[in-house]
Amino acid sequence: MKISVVGAGIAGLSTAWSLAKQGHQVMLFEQGPIPNPLAASGDHHRIIRRAYGAGSGYGAAITEAYDAWDELWADLGESHLDARGFMAVSRETGDEAEDYLNGLREGGWPCEVLEPGEAAERYPFLDPDTIRYAFFSPEGGALHCRRIAFSMAGWLQARGVLLRQTMKVTGVDPARAAVTTEDGRTIEADYVIVTAGAWVTKLFPDLVSDLTTYRTAVVYLDPPAHLKEAWARAPVILDVGGETDGYILPPSGEGGLKFGSGLHKIASADANANRDPVAGEGEAIRDLFAPPMRDIDRYAITGVVTCAYTFTADERFFVREEGNCLVVSACSGHGYKFGAAVGRRVAGFVENRDFAALKSWMRAEA
Ligand SMILES: Cc1cc2nc3c(=O)[nH]c(=O)nc-3n(C[C@H](O)[C@H](O)[C@H](O)COP(=O)(O)OP(=O)(O)OC[C@H]3O[C@@H](n4cnc5c(N)ncnc54)[C@H](O)[C@@H]3O)c2cc1C
Repeated sequence: MKISVVGAGIAGLSTAWSLAKQGHQVMLFEQGPIPNPLAASGDHHRIIRRAYGAGSGYGAAITEAYDAWDELWADLGESHLDARGFMAVSRETGDEAEDYLNGLREGGWPCEVLEPGEAAERYPFLDPDTIRYAFFSPEGGALHCRRIAFSMAGWLQARGVLLRQTMKVTGVDPARAAVTTEDGRTIEADYVIVTAGAWVTKLFPDLVSDLTTYRTAVVYLDPPAHLKEAWARAPVILDVGGETDGYILPPSGEGGLKFGSGLHKIASADANANRDPVAGEGEAIRDLFAPPMRDIDRYAITGVVTCAYTFTADERFFVREEGNCLVVSACSGHGYKFGAAVGRRVAGFVENRDFAALKSWMRAEA
């Protein structure tokens, strides 16, 4: 089949990868370069980890996510996963870190719980007086997103996928499986898959009832000298406990030490709006992390990167079938780790047309 894919974040790249392996003729449209630094998949690194709250379903789905990444690494001839494990810190009874620990226990997945003193000895950037416990699991790490995108783009091109970079799609006709590009051309195919991330509501305005777009930012930091070595060997940090909704990626690949918090996101209908960081934004994000980090004001800010992404109300992934078109949105702030698996599942749907099965898998109900 001739298939157009709109958007070359991790979902679009992975869909094109899997479709090309099935022998389809694929054209991939991207409004910016690949990777696009404005896309959710365009930053240096993202966390992969097994921990999800008890009963979520996504924790079990990580087995398939790892399997899909392994298939991708084999095709690319190199792995872009830094498997340094992950940890989380609980500061209050019933906080999100505790939910994650319960999820790990429910699934019987490996984890080691550390008392505050023990945790601070192993991870000296923690202030032991502010935490209840930490836990570590070897099943996780950092995915190097920019390297993945460069590498996948090369693989796709070698496999004959037509990459149309800096080519914005301005309209999709689901009945005709046609896309219109900003230079006025209309390209017909047998099927269209839209993986347009935070820009999807520009193409399908009615999706605002299912998908809310947010603008957020992350801060890159240079830690104080006495903590550099500890950060160099640290696992990724999924949650810093309490109300912070904070996560941390240690230096890994070309990505430096990065802090981000769910508290910092604001609803913003336009994914291109307010993309320049504002004065003091880096400090504001950094300072959310004390507690549990000690000496937080001694971390120097080296960069602030803004991002746009969509959430569903229940934070499960979204998919819609309309005529000869499938709209895919695997995000809600946790979709990168499933990227390769999403691509495989979407390509599988093109073969079997079992929409109910795809939707159920995307929602981790299967
Ligand atoms: C700050 C932050 C931290 C996150 N942390 C994690 C994490 O640690 N672990 C994790 O698993 N997930 C994480 N996520 C979520 C993850 O980044 C996303 O789920 C994932 O990157 C979404 O990929 P995507 O391909 O669906 O969208 P995107 O990466 O946004 O890609 C969409 C692409 O479509 C292109 N496009 C859009 N419209 C058009 C058009 N009309 N024509 C042509 N091209 C178009 C865009 O330019 C873009 O390149 C995080 C997200 C954010 C923002």
